[in-house]
Amino acid sequence: MSASSTTETFFTISMPYCERMEIRRTVFTGGNGPRVAVTAGIHGDELEGLYVCHRLAAWLEQLQQTTPAALTGSVELYPAVNTLGLDTLTRGLPVFDTDLNRSFPGSSGGPLPERLAAALMEELSGASLVVDIHASNIYLREIPQVRISQEFEAELVPLARRMNLDMIWLHGAATVLETTIAHSLNSSGTPCLVVEMGVGMRITPEYCDQLTAGLLAVWKELGILAPETAIPETTHRPLVADDSNVHYLNAQTSGIFVPTASHWTDVRRGELLGTIVSPFSGDLLSEVRSPVDGVLFTLREYPLVYEGSLMARVMARKREGK
Ligand SMILES: [Zn+2]
Repeated sequence: MSASSTTETFFTISMPYCERMEIRRTVFTGGNGPRVAVTAGIHGDELEGLYVCHRLAAWLEQLQQTTPAALTGSVELYPAVNTLGLDTLTRGLPVFDTDLNRSFPGSSGGPLPERLAAALMEELSGASLVVDIHASNIYLREIPQVRISQEFEAELVPLARRMNLDMIWLHGAATVLETTIAHSLNSSGTPCLVVEMGVGMRITPEYCDQLTAGLLAVWKELGILAPETAIPETTHRPLVADDSNVHYLNAQTSGIFVPTASHWTDVRRGELLGTIVSPFSGDLLSEVRSPVDGVLFTLREYPLVYEGSLMARVMARKREGK
């Protein structure tokens, strides 16, 4: 079979004013090998994944022109799952005021968010790997990481380790949301990794290139790409975090946050990460200091803060092998 790609509609529904909403994907079809998928834009204020889909599409188009036989499986890219949200810069699904990623596994006879969720579940079921890309929100910047429910740790951590990312964050059962696309897919036997990186409403090209290289490496191991296919180098190895070594820093006062530390750097216990100052006076209202030696992996991006706002997260380093 020769390699080909098509952009096609996988979900359509009529809208109130005689329009139709059509949600599209691009499918790269090569040999009869396994199938993988990337989903992005399920939150309409998150754009990093859309750029990753572009980078993957560009790479696969180039491959089809030079060595079409190298695509031994197939790849599905779903860059804009929540199209209405992306069009209106809204995190949730507008009109329904629903977080689409709390609507899974959905129902084909339910309201729009549930129907869209059900359609996605049907399309993605049986894939060798689905990667759902998130981009934090407008408030916090994150290093490239995979978040995994401990329930699926055994199957997912080996895949996540090879994704060229910098952190694997294992979540205990109490903090896992069961209505997400990832939980629904993993529960029904389709492996799904959740990637979080960057910041909402922006793209961070170096993070996107890093993840693109990781996806190609994992796809090659899964047999989507022929063994001799030349792919970009992967150099990142993840640190592992869980509830025991992640520290949350919350604002002690409301005000304007002025960071003094750089995101994704090593910090020392007691080190000043930023200050919260008054917009009405020259007063320093409070300080944000690291409670431990570790890696500053989350940092407040949006400057207006309220008492209790999440300002930063620091991961204390664990010993190797744990
Ligand atoms: Zn998200």
